[in-house]
Amino acid sequence: QDLRELEARVSVCRACPRLVEWREEVAVGKRKSFADQPYWGRPIPGWGVAAPRIVIVGLAPAANGGNRTGRVFTGDRSGDWLFAALHRVGLANQATSEHAGDGLQLIGTRMIAAVRCAPPANKPTPEERDICAPWYRRELELVLPSTQAIVCLGKFGYDALLNGLAALGTTIPKPRPKFGHAVEHRLETSHGQVTVLGSFHPSQQNTFTGRLTEAMLDAVLARARTIAGI
Ligand code: SF4
Repeated sequence: QDLRELEARVSVCRACPRLVEWREEVAVGKRKSFADQPYWGRPIPGWGVAAPRIVIVGLAPAANGGNRTGRVFTGDRSGDWLFAALHRVGLANQATSEHAGDGLQLIGTRMIAAVRCAPPANKPTPEERDICAPWYRRELELVLPSTQAIVCLGKFGYDALLNGLAALGTTIPKPRPKFGHAVEHRLETSHGQVTVLGSFHPSQQNTFTGRLTEAMLDAVLARARTIAGI
């Protein structure tokens, strides 16, 4: 099973009843400002280059963002922040991410969400996280051979990543390396060393309050770029 087949298979998954109901309800109800637009309303595959040197791990698509546009982090405020930062540090060819045909390209980078369907209030349950984990793990397995650095946006994505790496045979030190902004942990995977970096999630909750600034996000992404040799 390659990435294309994985994308095709995940895009029709209906394993989580609550999330299936929510992603479709939002797609039919539509926010007023997007009333004239079609909604994807399905699981969101990973996106970016097929053999990345950097992997960025997010939480889950936003109801009116990825769930609308069909592309991860596309069409919402978190994505606006993230892509502007990726462009500033040279990992994206443009600073905006509006829809799947906007010409945006990542450089040496792939994005993966730990949960593929938009959850109510942006909060998947632990059960939903675990049900979706095999999709995530398989994608990780496919991209790990080329990956040098993995940036986890938020603790949810970080925990999902460590669980995924452990399931793929990586020994995770005990006690578990802690999540925090700009933490950096080097792990030995079955394909060699990978550096895991933490960043606060670019959610409005973090960016509006100043918990995450542009400089903070830029510094983590630039560090990943250096590690990856891009
Ligand atoms: Fe399937 Fe994952 Fe969506 Fe659940 S969250 S329905 S496992 S793609």
